[in-house]
Amino acid sequence: MLRIDAMNEQIAAIPAEVARLEKDLLEAQKGVEQEKSALAELQKERRRLEGELMGVEAKIQKYQAQLMDVKTNKEYQAMQHEIEGCKAERASLDEKILLEMEEQEKGNTASRALEDRLKEMRRRTEDGKKALADKGAALKRDRDVIDADRQALQKEVSPVFLDPFLKTARQRRGIGLVGVRDGLCGGCHVRVLPKLIQEVRRSTHLIVCETCKRFLYVVDDVVASGPARSPGAPEGASEPARPETGGDGESPDPRVS
Ligand SMILES: [Zn+2]
Repeated sequence: MLRIDAMNEQIAAIPAEVARLEKDLLEAQKGVEQEKSALAELQKERRRLEGELMGVEAKIQKYQAQLMDVKTNKEYQAMQHEIEGCKAERASLDEKILLEMEEQEKGNTASRALEDRLKEMRRRTEDGKKALADKGAALKRDRDVIDADRQALQKEVSPVFLDPFLKTARQRRGIGLVGVRDGLCGGCHVRVLPKLIQEVRRSTHLIVCETCKRFLYVVDDVVASGPARSPGAPEGASEPARPETGGDGESPDPRVS
């Protein structure tokens, strides 16, 4: 795969990474909201119990007042019995309310912990999104530079030569053109037959390494011929900007033909 393809893939993957961060945050937010609504339910239930308790207290007071007016012993005992029943109810309500309060205390602690976690997650999400945006921008900048280089190259080199070269590059980890140095292929480091090197030197057509199938040029030739024959190749470069096109009139450089 060409480096530019890998970059485009990385750039294309960024929105999904951002979406994943946002989804995690949303889930944490939902957790906090659930905890809060559970707490609100508890509070409602406690208010209901407290209302009930007030009713029972009022009943007890009413019965105790009525106790003064009873005429018979039987009536007195019946009233006492009512009062005992109300007191038992009051004790049970007190107990329930106490349990609810403990529950609420625990809930408040859990809720605070969740909110702290959410705050931390918000911060991490923002940082993560910023890092991804920076990464995307840097990738795009690099990609555009490479793309501009490639477009300039495509303008200068005939597709007859460039297309097979790019195809090979895609199949060979981004490197489609390699130099032969000291008789070895610069791509796979396997010895290149002298006969083949001779053909590359004559450069009437594109020659590939028999082992890795990358296009070959001879490093010594490029250096020795210098800018007059190979204007794209810097002195001593391990990789010239374009394959030698030969004197067949295809070359855009008038000095070659
Ligand atoms: Zn090779």
